[in-house]
Amino acid sequence: MANAAGASGAQHADVAVVGAGFAGLYLLHRLRKAGLSAIGLESGNDVGGTWYWNRYPGARCDIQTSDYSYTWDPELEKAWTWSEKYATQPEILRYLGFVADRYDLRRDIRFGTTVSAATWDDGTQRWLLTTSSGAPVSCRYYVMASGCLSAPKPPEIEGFKDFKGEVYFTGRWPHEPVDFTGKRVAVIGTGSSAIQSIPLIAQQAAHLTVFQRTPNFALPAHNGPSPADRVEMLQKDVPAFREQARWSMAGVPLPPATDFSWQLSDAERRERFEKAWAAGDLVVMLTQLWADQAVDVDGNTLVADLLREKVRAVVKDPETAEALTPRDHPFGSKRPCLDTGYYATYNRPNVTLVNLRREPIKSITASGIRTDSRTVDVDAIVFATGFDAMTGAITAVHPISGRGGKSIAEAWEHGPQTYLGLTVAGFPNLFMITGPGSPSVLSNMMVSIEQHVDWITDRLVAMREAGFTTIEATDTAQDGWQRHNADCSMITLHRLANTWYTGANVPGKPQGVMPYTGGVGPYRGICNEVVERGMLGFRLT
Ligand code: FAD
Repeated sequence: MANAAGASGAQHADVAVVGAGFAGLYLLHRLRKAGLSAIGLESGNDVGGTWYWNRYPGARCDIQTSDYSYTWDPELEKAWTWSEKYATQPEILRYLGFVADRYDLRRDIRFGTTVSAATWDDGTQRWLLTTSSGAPVSCRYYVMASGCLSAPKPPEIEGFKDFKGEVYFTGRWPHEPVDFTGKRVAVIGTGSSAIQSIPLIAQQAAHLTVFQRTPNFALPAHNGPSPADRVEMLQKDVPAFREQARWSMAGVPLPPATDFSWQLSDAERRERFEKAWAAGDLVVMLTQLWADQAVDVDGNTLVADLLREKVRAVVKDPETAEALTPRDHPFGSKRPCLDTGYYATYNRPNVTLVNLRREPIKSITASGIRTDSRTVDVDAIVFATGFDAMTGAITAVHPISGRGGKSIAEAWEHGPQTYLGLTVAGFPNLFMITGPGSPSVLSNMMVSIEQHVDWITDRLVAMREAGFTTIEATDTAQDGWQRHNADCSMITLHRLANTWYTGANVPGKPQGVMPYTGGVGPYRGICNEVVERGMLGFRLT
């Protein structure tokens, strides 16, 4: 437990954990078990993180829930059964509430509390966190478990404030049900949240107009009960399944295909593709077709063409089908989406697609949305415009002021610089969970979150035992890690896409592939090796 407010008025703890999503909750649990005092700070009014905020219709996970759940307590695994292959937001939120109750985690969390600034004090070797409510927090270690997709991107459209109708953000959806019955609704954006919510909004609305800038690849979820083969694979040997996931490329235990596309006939490729399509699983489609699909343009085009064919097969209007067909990025260079009836929704008479590549939005008016060529009057606008991914929640704490008063915003002026995606040179005792430079959003996040939480907690315990109080990445190690990241991304197709992985969705954000593209298994091996080699790249005092 954290100490009550000290003489300075600050609340003292060994560790401050910002965020009470999957990462923050597990970290609080581990720290407590390790005998470290910890305090959680969370803007929301309860636990859940992503699953607390994203309550839009159709919100679900897109990694099978058998894989997208905690694996750190075998008893917890036995105590919870998911009802579906891809659980809904309410079920995942219930799960996180269940975990918080089971391990009594809420008592260490200050809800409704946003960390607005953080300052390192070289004299006391502690961080002081300024909070939006209650006492500031003085801590030895400061961990940003603040999420990769938790800072919604503000609308950049002129006149946004003039609109007189209802406004919703998928990433900040109200807690009360929203009823669109009989209403004219606009959805802006066609990323994952839009693709999940559009079919349901279309069922209610009098008319739905979707404003799309960039089409995404989407595969059918084929949701339902967990598939029998996956359940069998898991139940046969749960620890082995989990361990295989930890050492895999994407955090799901499916060994990637080893045949190259040119070794397969058209018919064989088609067969593999149709099997993956029927599986309704992103990781299957991303890894199980042929070995060159993610690293070679020709191998990738073969998959992308088959996916494009599927859009044309469903969407009846050829112009709409073409507008929905992604052509500007290789398949997998941007997170593809899972859909339930998404493409078929465009065959409904009450749905219109506006292709913003042809007619950009000029402004939002009091009554609707004006493009270059038309005005669409609506009663409600849903912004499904995504997130300032990976760095947004970190740089929103401003300043995070490290050694010598330098802020993270200054240190990252030309893009995020980290060592292992976990730490930043010049910012002692600061850790990030799934930060830029770690596999994070390119993986089943559960595997990446657990690996980071375990690595950090184990290091803090080892430091306590060895009598160290500070840990900091060296500039050399950080530079080396940046180089390695850049090299890894050069041999994938991520370099060919402008996406939220590269910061391209946020005007003015420095461009570069932010997640580590080398895979979660190899990454885990590197983190372990750093420890085995005497904390290679870190200075401990
Ligand atoms: P979050 O869940 O984002 O929690 C971070 C918390 O930190 C938030 O509650 C936020 O309020 C709080 N916070 C941030 N800044 C501050 C501050 N300054 N002060 C106080 N509190 C702060 N990943 C997958 O692997 N598979 C999926 O299927 C999947 N589906 C997703 C679906 C949606 C709709 C979204 C948005 C993301 C999805 N993700 C998925 C990614 C998802 O974000 C992670 O899987 C995971 O939930 C992240 O957990 P976290 O604890 O790291 O961060």
